[in-house]
Amino acid sequence: MTQPAPRKKRIVLLGATGSIGESTLRVIAGHPDRLELAAIAARENWSGLATIARQFGVRHVGLFDEQAFATARANPGSFPAGTRVVGGLAGLIELAQLADADIVLVAVVGTTGLEPALAALAAGKDLALASKEILVLAGKFVMAEARRHRAKLLPVDSEHNGIYQCLEGHPRAGIRRIILTASGGAFRDRPAEHLAQVTPEDATKHPNWAMGPKITVDSATLANKGLELIEAQWLFGLRPDQCTAVLHPQSIVHSLVEFTDGALLAQLCPPSMTFPIQHVLLHPDRAAGVDAPLDFTRTIGLEFRPIDEQRFPMLGIARATMKAGGVAPAIYNAANEVAVGAFLRNEIPFLAIPRVVEQTLGSIRNFEPTNLAAVLALDASARRSATSHLATCRSVNA
Ligand code: MG
Repeated sequence: MTQPAPRKKRIVLLGATGSIGESTLRVIAGHPDRLELAAIAARENWSGLATIARQFGVRHVGLFDEQAFATARANPGSFPAGTRVVGGLAGLIELAQLADADIVLVAVVGTTGLEPALAALAAGKDLALASKEILVLAGKFVMAEARRHRAKLLPVDSEHNGIYQCLEGHPRAGIRRIILTASGGAFRDRPAEHLAQVTPEDATKHPNWAMGPKITVDSATLANKGLELIEAQWLFGLRPDQCTAVLHPQSIVHSLVEFTDGALLAQLCPPSMTFPIQHVLLHPDRAAGVDAPLDFTRTIGLEFRPIDEQRFPMLGIARATMKAGGVAPAIYNAANEVAVGAFLRNEIPFLAIPRVVEQTLGSIRNFEPTNLAAVLALDASARRSATSHLATCRSVNA
């Protein structure tokens, strides 16, 4: 007897033209019998969206940038006939609540996806979260909204996805700690004294992963690991001291869970985002992956080393913000984003990034936010404060 074909999962992809978007499209194209792209959005790349819309037959398209939205509306012939194009934050929120969508994957850079993510949860959609900044900024509110609507929140970030897979079927009480692996980024093997001179071009060459410029710089400073520790604390409801990281140059073990009895479970796969993305899109089902699995006919070395926090101060600063609680992690995130932007524009040296973040943290009083508006206002004022500290950090070289 043949089983009836399961209904395809309909996906809303916010951030379709970035690096996560690209991997997501490969996963969807690899499973046409199970997955269907329902809506796509990007910041400003309207012609990229038009190409995807034609390729996947998507009828709902969103552009965050108003100028790009206007250009797309002026070029209706680029999109399949009958395509609805929406714009701005309101447009992204509308797509996140699309009536016949099952899962919303948020992969827009930074915190732009926060309100669309909350809207998806409120509409009862499953939420696949790739933008870690959203939980760093507003983890308390996102997790509360997920609980209120009993929505499934699935982490796309490879380390958190690994932990999620290791924890399935295990009671939380048995966890001693989680261990996120860090590749060490572009400067892992560079002598510390060379770091003062590194350029944006040097920092955006990652040894293992192909990603956008912001996250690649965050990997080089290990701010990415700091943000991930904060993200993990919210996702898995852990104390700050239960969230740890270890250097693992091969990026094959994505994370480990240590249980109270000392047993460790790890999640392994090649360093391609298609693995965690497929896991969340098909969850709880499994199917053949779109990239080749690990090849055990060859020797695979796995190495783990402690992280030198003198060399990577952004990790220690992140840990301090977790202990401080309140809006400290949100200030860390905002100041880091401003500092990385300035570094990428050649306005400040690499080693000034932690200086900007520390100065910003020192200049804003911490508090426990009681609503989302307070967090958003704090985020804006932290960015202004960080921008004002750029000038004094321009000549940091030690
Ligand atoms: Mg990661």
